[in-house]
Amino acid sequence: MKNIQKTDKQVYKALTAEIKRQNEGIEMIPSENYVSKAVLEALGSVFTNKYSEGYPKRRYYGGQENTDTVETLAIERAKTLFGAQHVNVQPLSGAPANLAVYSALLNPGDTVLGMDLSHGGHLTHGHPVTLSAKIYNFVRYKTKENGTIDYEKLEELVQKTKPKILLAGFSSYTRQLNYRKITKIAKKVGAISMMDMAHIAGLVAGKALPNPVPLFDVVTTTTHKSLRGPRGGMIMCKKEFAQKIDKAVFPGLQGGPHMNNITALAIALKEAQEKQFQNYATQVLKNAKELERGLKKRGATLCFGAKTDNHMVLINTMEKWGLTGKQAEETLDAIGITVNKNVLPDDVRGPLDPSGIRVGTPAATTRGMKEKEMTKIAVWIDGALTNSINKKEIARIKKEVRTMCLRFPINKDKK
Ligand SMILES: *Cc1c(COP(=O)(O)O)cnc(C)c1O
Repeated sequence: MKNIQKTDKQVYKALTAEIKRQNEGIEMIPSENYVSKAVLEALGSVFTNKYSEGYPKRRYYGGQENTDTVETLAIERAKTLFGAQHVNVQPLSGAPANLAVYSALLNPGDTVLGMDLSHGGHLTHGHPVTLSAKIYNFVRYKTKENGTIDYEKLEELVQKTKPKILLAGFSSYTRQLNYRKITKIAKKVGAISMMDMAHIAGLVAGKALPNPVPLFDVVTTTTHKSLRGPRGGMIMCKKEFAQKIDKAVFPGLQGGPHMNNITALAIALKEAQEKQFQNYATQVLKNAKELERGLKKRGATLCFGAKTDNHMVLINTMEKWGLTGKQAEETLDAIGITVNKNVLPDDVRGPLDPSGIRVGTPAATTRGMKEKEMTKIAVWIDGALTNSINKKEIARIKKEVRTMCLRFPINKDKK
């Protein structure tokens, strides 16, 4: 970072502080990860200088021989990895990817049936504050007491509301969805089946979780969560939707694609094809299971049947510790464990100070942490939340967390 240091002292200072923060704390926000050095290099590469409106071989500006190469590599690698018929790698992130699909396949006022937001669904699945909720009609389905989706109610709702899109996917749900049931229900009423696999894309790529891509009509994802790529979005779909979706992304919603990101994505997708990445994905799940075990052993209340099938757990912090999600998040920040506050199913509290937190293992696993470290993390989480007003105890745990973190440096590039 010699050049940044020379050019801009203020930014340099913030950047150096962020490197320290990332090194000395444990990242347990389930949607975050650490990219490889190769991905970082691509992000900072000269491809950021290039305008490439259009698609490979069909661009609006000249000088595209190299951008065409990297975009085609990204597309082909995604096709191989996920078994997709068609891939668009240009969405700037997950939210614009979803908006592009809605605008490609819906008319204003059309109905989308998506997962209830407090039951694990995402903001972009029709939260009233979003643009899509103003344009389309979102109806929600929920989970049952035991934590699985209420598929009978879902089918009733589908029959009643006749959605144009039946949307699956989540950002805080911890269980495996029954893809076959969902796509079958969609077929019955001629709805398009759509899955947003943003959180679990890396676990699917690493063959640790079932692949929804061959089953659903459309699958969207982010590329920067468990997939461990640059920030970005991706749409995979059946051939029949390809043209509509490509047009919706560009020129419908976006201008020039971020070619430095697409270059980095091509590299991340190559990394995700390696055997080591499969080991990584398997370890992410093992670590989440160990975290679940450790927390349950200490009497923590976990949501969705107190069980995780993926990389995260959703913890009710009011029940055992009498802390709101915000208080719990702040307490864990103080010991160097970064999590995020999160609403629980039908939470009586609001999103800015909900009843729980969401904790996930993708980032810590990238650093090389395994079950043994997860056991410790569960002890630290319980210890901090139990002693949240005991400054001495918080300082003691913080020291332990830091010591362990320094044993797991980020980006040693063992992958
Ligand atoms: C993270 C996420 C998104 C949004 O991605 P951004 O890159 O933040 O726009 C969309 N859907 C789901 C399910 C997500 O988890």
